[in-house]
Amino acid sequence: MVAATICHSDMMKRYRDLSGWLKEKYGSKVFKVSLTAATTCPNLDGSLATGGCTFCNDAAYSPLALAKNRRQKSIPEQLAQGMEYVKRRHATSKFIAYFQSFTSTYGDKEKLMAKFRESLDHPDVVGFALSTRPDCIDKDWAKALSQLADGKLCWIELGLQSANDLILAKINRWHTRWQFGEALKILKDQNIAVCAHVVLGLPLETRPDVLETAQYLATQPIDGIKIHNLHVVKGTALAQEYQRGKYQPLSLTTFTEWAVDFLEQTPPQLLIHRLNAHAPRQLTLAPDWSVNKLAVFRAVEKELIKRESWQGKGLGFARTYLINLTKAKF
Ligand code: SF4
Repeated sequence: MVAATICHSDMMKRYRDLSGWLKEKYGSKVFKVSLTAATTCPNLDGSLATGGCTFCNDAAYSPLALAKNRRQKSIPEQLAQGMEYVKRRHATSKFIAYFQSFTSTYGDKEKLMAKFRESLDHPDVVGFALSTRPDCIDKDWAKALSQLADGKLCWIELGLQSANDLILAKINRWHTRWQFGEALKILKDQNIAVCAHVVLGLPLETRPDVLETAQYLATQPIDGIKIHNLHVVKGTALAQEYQRGKYQPLSLTTFTEWAVDFLEQTPPQLLIHRLNAHAPRQLTLAPDWSVNKLAVFRAVEKELIKRESWQGKGLGFARTYLINLTKAKF
């Protein structure tokens, strides 16, 4: 009996994951459908730079089966194709329209807003999420997005990647941690939910850098965090560095330890949107383990159990606090 209790307790989530929260809120699983608003990025089109972030290859952000001619397809066409793809794998009828490609708030605002609006018109779409850079958010954008959401789920994924400006320079981000903070204030002034996007295993990054990023974000008014392992995708500057022996990806063990360090420094009320990144196998150069999403989840859970740890433990939060939060609606 005691053993059964311990086992059940260990299986309870040790972090507050977005998918569990969505299931609680909508009564069934909700899946993101990756869409493109056919934008570009100031870090690619020459406004800031032309090379882009050293790890960026837009083709890696969606299944290959959906990538063909995607930019030429309308939003309803992309949605229909993406929903069908998800439904073949999961029993669900609820979706989030996820504008993940490039920088979703860069370009003609009216045209982009029309595409976001089109996605929300679909009856099975419960809300939208979009990813962007801190230097592509201003008051007009924040206001427009807040009005568009109008009670529906709206998440802005704001790229930080690292709180260390030297690392940001090394990966050619061309924005700073200060700019992240300014964009965040603008979005929060409009009550928009913000998910900070971070990557672990960046060139030059050490364990203290990871802790610094986690501790910085713990002081910011964000609502969620997306943690990615850095993977080397073909066709990127990082791939060239890797092939010349100038960059070595993290082992699964090190990534797991750093991810758990990060979770321990993350306030329990923040939703964890993701704990890994994987690209299609055909596009992935390294590390091999990154294509196995389940193995990464299991490794993180195992490390949490091994340390007898949970999200926020390093900030002094009791596990019962986290467990009660995971039962509550947002
Ligand atoms: S900001 Fe995003 S889209 Fe632009 S180059 Fe970097 S990763 Fe790619």
